[in-house]
Parts: sequence; structure tokens; C-alpha cells
Amino acid sequence: MPRSPMRSLFFALTALACIAPALRAQTPPPAHIVPVVFKLDDVRTNDSGYLSDRWRKLLPLVRERQIKLSLGVIANSLENPKPAYIAWLKEMHATGLVEFWFHGYDHGVRKVGDVEAAEFTALTYGEQKERFDKSQKLAQEKLGFTFQTFGPPGGGKLAATDADLDATARVLTDDPSMKVWLYPSPIDARGEKLNAAGKVTVLDRVWAVNIEQPLFVPNSEKFIAGYNKHAANRRYFILQGHANKWDEPRWAEFLKIVDYITQNKIPTLLPTELAASLKTSASKN
Ligand SMILES: [Zn+2]
Repeated sequence: MPRSPMRSLFFALTALACIAPALRAQTPPPAHIVPVVFKLDDVRTNDSGYLSDRWRKLLPLVRERQIKLSLGVIANSLENPKPAYIAWLKEMHATGLVEFWFHGYDHGVRKVGDVEAAEFTALTYGEQKERFDKSQKLAQEKLGFTFQTFGPPGGGKLAATDADLDATARVLTDDPSMKVWLYPSPIDARGEKLNAAGKVTVLDRVWAVNIEQPLFVPNSEKFIAGYNKHAANRRYFILQGHANKWDEPRWAEFLKIVDYITQNKIPTLLPTELAASLKTSASKN
């Protein structure tokens, strides 16, 4: 005998009532709340000069969810830009919820000897400074502002030497706009020294607390586990991701991370905002 529609509805509602608390119980609110910075790398256009739909999805997201995002721009994409690209960058910036930061002039990988090296590896102070200067000029000309944050582009197998990183530290100190270094490693003596000098704030990472695990694949479960495990010992987390690598399932997983952050009222900050707040709290101590 078929069930009556009312009876089916009753069973469906009962089942839902049982499942809903169980779902909630899987993700309890975090015991410690510390702010996060979304660090989304590799903003550039494709070979034809157009910006992908994957990047374009971020503007409605920022507006609807009122979350803050920081995005790393590869500066040579500003050399001959399509007007629509510049319009998107400006519209994002005008929300007041987005910071664009400097993610290299070309994000190139080149051979040093037999080994491939990232853009700022094995470059002198002068060579690094030149890349900063021409990129800042492009930003000022095309966007009307200069970058205040640097996140070094990766790639290649050759490890950056102390000399490379010391040169970067000097460039950041000398560039009048630069305030923040999104550090490619846990904080160390160089980073501490730079923080103590006061001009540039070094923001480091916890690898286990990230959007993507593994690289390019957002994973909300791992993010939530990592956040809860490490938050008691941290003042912030920098969450790296590559939105242009996210197909629909990956985007959906990223949205679960956004949901967790907004539902639990975890503050999202821009790199320069976080740096300023850390300085204020340091001066109170
Ligand atoms: Zn990159």
C-alpha cells in the first residue's frame, strides 16, 4: 500500500529534524577566534588579455558575503590591459573590501645554471628593486594606487638564499609604499628584525591552516581542523588559494570555508589592516 502524501511528509520532516543537529554537531564553533587573511594568488589575464570567469565570481561574492579578500596581481598584466580588466580591478578595489598586492612583475621561472628559479631568486638588490619600481609605476598609472603588500611568486626548484631574502627585505624597506611582506616561510630572525624596525610587517603562514590542501584543491574539513588545532597559539592565519584553478566543485568547497568563517564571525582582514592592528596591539603591550 502506498504511503499517503501527509505520512511521507511527516517521515521526511522527522528525518530532517534528526539529521540537522547531527550535521551541526560535526562542525562546532571554534574555541578560539583569530582573524584570517584570504591571500589569493596569480591575478592576471589570459593570453588574449581577458580575465577569466573564475576571477569574476569574486566580486559578487565580496559584495554578497561582505568578506574581505586580498589578491596578488602579476604586474605585467597591467602593461597593455583590456579596459574590462582595469574596470574589474577598480570595481573590486572600490568595494573597500579588497586589497591588491604585488605578486611579481612576471612570475617568471628561469634557469640559473641547470636549475629553475622563481622570479626573485638569485637576483641582486638592484635587480629586485627594478622589478618593484616598474610594477609600482604600472599600478600607479593604471589603477591609481601603489601596492603596499608583497607576496613573492613561487615556482622553480632553486631555494632562495639568505642573500636573496636579505635583498628583498632591503627593497621592502626602501620602497616608500610597502608595508607588508606575506612571508614564504615561518617567521625567522630576518622577519623578527624587520618587524622590530617597524616599517614593514612580516606576516607568516601555518601550512596546516589553508584553503587548499593539497595545492589548488580547497578542502573545508582540513581547514576547519587546522584552524581549531592552531588558533590558540596564533594571532592570525594567512590562507592561500588560487581561485583561477577552481572548477565548480572546488569553488563549492571554497564557499564552505567562507560559510564556516562567516557563521562563526571569524574576522576577515586585509594584509595592511592586519599589520596595522598587530602594531597597535604591540604598542599596548
Ligand atoms: Zn603565484
